[in-house]
Amino acid sequence: MAYSVMTKYQCKCSDLGYKCSYVLEEGRAEDILPMFKIHLRYAHNVWDFTDEMAEKVKNATKEIS
Ligand SMILES: [Zn+2]
Repeated sequence: MAYSVMTKYQCKCSDLGYKCSYVLEEGRAEDILPMFKIHLRYAHNVWDFTDEMAEKVKNATKEIS
């Protein structure tokens, strides 16, 4: 059986301009946005997740393995 390397997606809160050490790692790129939205809500009191914010999160998301 072939062993496949798990690709992960990582987004650092500090890359969005927050003084925060939170690093989100997800196995699927589509999980990044909703999970980051939750972090912003609880950690930074950001209730309004705008398209601009979503774009920032997408740009800050990196593929790692
Ligand atoms: Zn944060």
